[in-house]
Amino acid sequence: MTSLRIPLLLLLLLLGLTGCEKTPGIHKETLYVFGTLVEISLYDVAPEKAAAVVGELNQTFRKMHEDWHAWKPGALTELNSAIARGETVETLPSIIALIERSRELSQLSGGLFNPAIGHLVGLWGFHQDDLPKGSLPDFDRIKERVAANPTMDDLILDGTQVASRNPLVKLDFGAFAKGVALDEAVRILKSRGITNAIVNAGGDLNVIGRPGDRAWKVGIRHPVDWGVIASVDLADGEVLYTSGNYERFREHEGIRYAHIIDPRTGMPVTHIVSASVLHRDGGLADAAATALSVAGPPGWEKVAEAMGLDHVLLVDDNGTVYATPAMIKRVTFEPGEAKRMVVSGQP
Ligand code: AMP
Ligand code: MG
Repeated sequence: MTSLRIPLLLLLLLLGLTGCEKTPGIHKETLYVFGTLVEISLYDVAPEKAAAVVGELNQTFRKMHEDWHAWKPGALTELNSAIARGETVETLPSIIALIERSRELSQLSGGLFNPAIGHLVGLWGFHQDDLPKGSLPDFDRIKERVAANPTMDDLILDGTQVASRNPLVKLDFGAFAKGVALDEAVRILKSRGITNAIVNAGGDLNVIGRPGDRAWKVGIRHPVDWGVIASVDLADGEVLYTSGNYERFREHEGIRYAHIIDPRTGMPVTHIVSASVLHRDGGLADAAATALSVAGPPGWEKVAEAMGLDHVLLVDDNGTVYATPAMIKRVTFEPGEAKRMVVSGQP
């Protein structure tokens, strides 16, 4: 999973929780997991109950973190090693569920969201906690990995056994696991009787209910200048996920190479853009935000349609906003921030 730098995370958290700080009755706790700060805000819950449920979420997240990590030794790295050796191997039911769901989402995205491209992510240096430095990867190897065309369809599942037709598949659920984790967190919170809460992992968030008599107000950040470009009120059960090539990147000779890779070319996404998806399914929104970042303008509309997304907003480095009509109705732009607006389906 990705690991972001702390100052950036703090900022994202602030953006994600505009206004919550001052709200009375909110019990807030921050966990550090998935290489990010996860802030859990529970509204009107007794402190003992809040502590118990946050403890449960912490354990759940830690298990996912260990089991699904793309480069630290654990269940997923074992599976990836077995795939590389051409062996069939038994894995965890939770990983099978990730494979099945992400396979569907990958197909819907036309392969732009592709968790089988772990080798490419690793070659670009993003399978480490620190940001990569130094010379760029060997482009012949990048080409080789692209030509091998690893996809989720290469995997053959039989119960909890996994085999791959393609030894160059390497699973990396960094674009998707956070959404799945937050969906699970919300399920746990509800099962413990929590009716009003927000779970925010570095700006990707799921909400339940509302804090008092207003909605959860969250910010969508500008891809370049750290400011908030717009805010949106989220209703019970909604989620908002933003993916951007500004989050993790390497810099070489003045060029930024982002952690989001275009599976078709093996190259990092170069256009600066952030893609936000408002939905009711965190796993889908997370995967879709990554796919939309790869697509960028103008290809994003097709991806949004194929993935069944009504609420999408992209922002590029010029401040041009690309959005669906439904999303435009939901967001409030900061004065002067949306410099140019391109709404899908409108001339
Ligand atoms: P996100 O921040 O959700 O967009 O996820 C980005 C992370 O997903 C990267 O750090 C990689 O681990 C992984 N990744 C990069 N490119 C892709 C892609 N095209 N499809 C799926 N996962 C990707
Ligand atoms: Mg994502």
